[in-house]
Amino acid sequence: MTDTLFYQVAVQSPLRRLFDYLPAEDASSVLAAGVRVTVPFGKREVTGIVVSNTASSDYPIGKLKPITAVLDKSPLLPPVLFDVLLWAARYYQHPLGDVLATALPTLLRKGGDLPQQSLWRLSTHGKGLPDDALRRAPSQQALLQLLQQHESLSREALTGAGVSTATIRSLKNKELIENFTRTISDQAFNPNGATDILAETPLTLSPDQQAALEQVEFHAYNSYLIDGETGSGKTEVYLQAIATVLRDSKQALVLIPEINLSPQTLARFQARFNCPIALIHSGLSERQRLEAWWAAASGSAGIIIGTRSAAFVPMKSPGIIIVDEEHDSSFKQQEGFRYSARDVAVMRANRESIPLLLGSATPSLESLYNCQQERYRHLSIKGRHGGAVQAAWQLVDIRHSQLNTGFSHTVIEGISTQLAEGNQVLVFLNRRGFAPTLMCHDCGWVANCRHCDAHLTVHTNRPGLHCHHCESRQPLPSTCPECSSQQLNYLGQGTERSEATLQALFPETNVHRVDRDSTGSKHAMEELLEQINKNEPCILVGTQMLAKGHHFPGVTLVVVLDADTSLFSTDFRALEKMGQLITQVAGRAGRGAKPGVVMIQSHHCEHPVFELLSRHSYAKFAQHLLAERQFSAMPPFTNAALIRAEFHQGGQALGLLQRARDFLESQMPSSPALRYLGPFPAAMEKRSGRYRYQLTLIGAERRDLQPLLSRLCHWLEQEKSARKVRWSIDVDPQDTI
Ligand code: ADP
Ligand code: ZN
Ligand code: ZN
Repeated sequence: MTDTLFYQVAVQSPLRRLFDYLPAEDASSVLAAGVRVTVPFGKREVTGIVVSNTASSDYPIGKLKPITAVLDKSPLLPPVLFDVLLWAARYYQHPLGDVLATALPTLLRKGGDLPQQSLWRLSTHGKGLPDDALRRAPSQQALLQLLQQHESLSREALTGAGVSTATIRSLKNKELIENFTRTISDQAFNPNGATDILAETPLTLSPDQQAALEQVEFHAYNSYLIDGETGSGKTEVYLQAIATVLRDSKQALVLIPEINLSPQTLARFQARFNCPIALIHSGLSERQRLEAWWAAASGSAGIIIGTRSAAFVPMKSPGIIIVDEEHDSSFKQQEGFRYSARDVAVMRANRESIPLLLGSATPSLESLYNCQQERYRHLSIKGRHGGAVQAAWQLVDIRHSQLNTGFSHTVIEGISTQLAEGNQVLVFLNRRGFAPTLMCHDCGWVANCRHCDAHLTVHTNRPGLHCHHCESRQPLPSTCPECSSQQLNYLGQGTERSEATLQALFPETNVHRVDRDSTGSKHAMEELLEQINKNEPCILVGTQMLAKGHHFPGVTLVVVLDADTSLFSTDFRALEKMGQLITQVAGRAGRGAKPGVVMIQSHHCEHPVFELLSRHSYAKFAQHLLAERQFSAMPPFTNAALIRAEFHQGGQALGLLQRARDFLESQMPSSPALRYLGPFPAAMEKRSGRYRYQLTLIGAERRDLQPLLSRLCHWLEQEKSARKVRWSIDVDPQDTI
């Protein structure tokens, strides 16, 4: 048995290991990494991916089974991407089979074929016919000639050439033509720069835009942070960088946050370029997803625009990666394979030796820190285009003031003035529903979720009590379940209540609510945007969905109803997120010709962050936060990982984490360079009926954490008590640590 070959195959399973198989019985050549295979796995047959081959296996050869079938002639995942996926599995401590699956559309994951195309061609019999054999049936003769000239044609092409279904059927019945399928063409979108890639003349860049673009080196890896407020012209820089890449017959990958791609942005890409654009997002059907994926992988799409998981889409000839709104937390997957698409993009651009552009009006502290460390180049674009001027900020002190369901007198006046002048107003409140709490006035009873440590939110649009943490729902009680009193009070306000209040205050004005409940369908959002773009006076009231990417040229006043919640949050990123959100919302004001006003209601107007933000300086604000993070040795100055555990009974989850900490200390004792915090209860201890705990690792050096976490994973996989408890590892967590 000297030259037996073993394949190590990744299979989707919770185990962090590969499985060994013998070559398929009829194997003729050695399989490359990245090829899909069907293998027996337990009692099932599953699709796996070949990772490597070896000359020896740790398992007795008699116990190993052969690969059942080989599904691909060549790997679906190109070698560089494959390496990035291997890296991601190690870095995020996630099972490789699952990580590789992220790079494949579901249909391929399940063993399906690449998208097929149905074509017509002459049969052997048909090929043997003389040219004019069918001259008495002119339409059949025309089809025959068409297929003599073209090797094969799709049904659409035939219809386009005026061939009818009846004609096709006649020739098929005479067995002169036949139907066959093959993989959809993998023609590159622009072979050797043949077509003119620009469909319109690009704008003349401002000096800052020009300087930023000139900094970008196109044939090497570098990360660039393009920092410029909303409307400063970042997208225009992306478009011109993409043009350079396309002319070189290379592809551009643009990652955008999870919230729907604004139709305006897509329209801008389409208007600018003469090349196919593939869109990859969660709204696609499995078939559409496969087709978009293949357009990227085969090289037929020049531009690929996608959300988080598109960071792993294969490209035939990658030329640039752009991450727009790089600070957005939706780039981080919060469950299962907990990766950051932004950080994966950095690694991928590095391995592909191509540039990475990160753009934001409110860069993340991580990226600003990376600029300080000279890992990224910082490119600033100042000012705004189209003459729009900076919004004026007004802090509205609401201590001691009478509020009308959350609205101060000053704000109501402000709204009224703007509406009278024919302008639009945007009211921002990051809380869905009508009221966050239902309380009995007579006995103090509060409606709580049975499954979570949380109050239930009162909703009036789909009436009921909803838990925003476990999605459970119950009818709205008419009397108190404790004391039968009818005095049930709604405490606090959500978007539905603000909508009602505003509608009562301004009965003549259209009030539109924008949140997850009102814009469930993509269609609803588009319709709303159309309404708003008519530029008639109206009020928009909504959650952070309003802050993302949309242009509202008619809005001249932005109101932030409740800025205080994040000042006292346990989440160490809460202030950063609040500053980003307020700056982004403020950036929606006065984008048209009219200047904007931003009003922020707070009980803590003297808080330094408001001072910094209101002087229009997100940069100063970010510096302030960075100094705080450095002082407290928190990320990005250190590296964090979170071990979470949850179970129906609290004791078991907590016990597991205590043992995990003992194990970690036995491997590497805690020191100033490596701190262990916890285990502690999570910010919301009970959620969806499970008790949740967490153990945090904070290390000065990233390279210390990774091997330690690998050993911990190994330990957890062996540990008996870990089998029942649900545990996970989150590297570079977004939430509370
Ligand atoms: P950002 O992506 O930073 O929000 P955009 O690229 O969308 O900014 O630009 C904002 C507006 O300014 C757009 O309407 C755009 O067409 C216009 N614009 C951008 N750059 C220029 C330029 N160099 N000359 C004229 N108009 C520009
Ligand atoms: Zn009561
Ligand atoms: Zn709940």
